[in-house]
Amino acid sequence: MDLKEKIRAIPDFPEKGISYKDITTLLKDKEALKATIDMFTDLSKDLKVDLVVGPEARGFIFGTALAYNLHAGFIPIRKPGKLPHAKLTQDYELEYGKDSLEIHEDSIQPGQRVLIIDDLLATGGTLLSTANLIEQLEGEVVGIMTLIELTELKGRDKLDKYKVESLVSYP
Ligand code: AMP
Repeated sequence: MDLKEKIRAIPDFPEKGISYKDITTLLKDKEALKATIDMFTDLSKDLKVDLVVGPEARGFIFGTALAYNLHAGFIPIRKPGKLPHAKLTQDYELEYGKDSLEIHEDSIQPGQRVLIIDDLLATGGTLLSTANLIEQLEGEVVGIMTLIELTELKGRDKLDKYKVESLVSYP
């Protein structure tokens, strides 16, 4: 199935010059949703994944479905102030300004095999911060997967020590 056909590109959202990749059109299509999760499952079935980690909010959508298929656990990475228990925080630079991500510090045991999944790889800042949080907890990042990759932003270069897979790419 051509997943790209199912993704809607919205010009100039949320600001001028950005082509926003809207995945809601893919999510509502039962065949496209199934094909996406099946592809992620195929790509990760030999990685012996203990835990799937997904950043808020779209990483939750694919992450839990994939964790279910792999019979792995799911761990949410959240924006600051959302997690209720003891947590680690990672700050990172955005194009304009800063942001942070958090993980519960008891969510990963040393040596557990962790797969990261999100909807989209742009600059790679979100996924690199996610990987850093996992490694601070001594988890082993066995792969990073996204539905979409915006190749011009070269996020993959920032993640060059990891195995990175994307299903659909845009220049
Ligand atoms: P980054 O940290 O730059 O790789 O950005 C990753 C996150 O920003 C993704 O998880 C997306 O949710 C969001 N994002 C960045 N650029 C776009 C875009 N063009 N369309 C939709 N979402 C985007």
